[in-house]
Amino acid sequence: MRITEKMKSLKEYIPNVDDCKIKLDANENPFPMDEDIKKEVLSAVEKCGLSRYPDPMSKDVCESYAKVMGVKESQVVAGCGSDELIGIITGFLLNKGDRVLVFEPDFSMYAFYSFLHELDIISVPKEQGIAFDADFVIKSIERFDPKMVLFSNPCNPTGGAIKSEQVKKILERTQAMVVLDEAYMEFFGDSLVPDINEYENLIILRTMSKAYGFAGGRVGFAAAREEIIREIKKAKSPFNLTKLSQAAACAILKHANKYKAQVDALTVLTRETYARLKEIEKKHPGKVTVFESSANFIYIKCARSQEIFEKLRDMSILIRAYPDGYLRVSTGLKEENDAFLDAFDAILKETGL
Ligand code: PMP
Repeated sequence: MRITEKMKSLKEYIPNVDDCKIKLDANENPFPMDEDIKKEVLSAVEKCGLSRYPDPMSKDVCESYAKVMGVKESQVVAGCGSDELIGIITGFLLNKGDRVLVFEPDFSMYAFYSFLHELDIISVPKEQGIAFDADFVIKSIERFDPKMVLFSNPCNPTGGAIKSEQVKKILERTQAMVVLDEAYMEFFGDSLVPDINEYENLIILRTMSKAYGFAGGRVGFAAAREEIIREIKKAKSPFNLTKLSQAAACAILKHANKYKAQVDALTVLTRETYARLKEIEKKHPGKVTVFESSANFIYIKCARSQEIFEKLRDMSILIRAYPDGYLRVSTGLKEENDAFLDAFDAILKETGL
């Protein structure tokens, strides 16, 4: 096989695969599936008829999700995770060489797919590593004049969020397509989905991998004006969602209210973890900085972060380590959060920070 320059320059993306007892690395919903919902999921899966191909447009799933979001089914397309939709949006709505604007740090898949599609990627570092607001986005757009801008709100990994009024300011100031990734919006509750009809340059990404506890099912959505959704549908794989995931997703979405209660519980747990992390921060002035979060995870700047990450992993506690001294810990069940906090506190003491 001929190895191209493009192949050489792409670093492999390896998600965490460590088999740790406590898994706080991927911002998943830690609650076990509700027993009644599980029964409905299993019964729907049993009836789904696996010898036939699935509905290529996942109509029932889109209808169920559109209902939850208060929009029309024609304004929603389902993907094999929102990852697939990021790939389609960057690959099909743009031409090779078009400029895309992303920010650093943010969700790495924006740059990953933009690279695969040979786009001109401008990655703007956030001020002080995390600061991000509408004016910063507008200034960056004015400076670089991109065809598309992608960012997550709330942001993975920083946990920062921009109010919808501010996001509207961005949309009104640019012709560029704005891909607004609301993967964690259930935790912040200020979505722009109700406004999709107002903007010709807005695509919103959502997922069932976080609040809906269905990361293993791989179901994500894009919501936008009908004419944009029609284009995205043209470019997706014909049978991108399996019958299994469609059946299960529909059963889950019937119980959106139960998930709302879980989101509230996770928000309380995140707040508790934040409060304890702030106490730890006080004990290590200048060495540990904990950032406020509008999602179900917390971003921490910490001296010797890689070493701390590895020590936690040795104790079977998996979190996420980033370059330049940052860590991100997802909110788990109370006992998981406590185990992490106790271990983190002890490791910091032992490391002599
Ligand atoms: N966007 C953001 C901001 C995410 O953090 C993630 C998952 N880590 C995704 C999208 C992808 O989600 P999915 O599981 O739907 O592909």
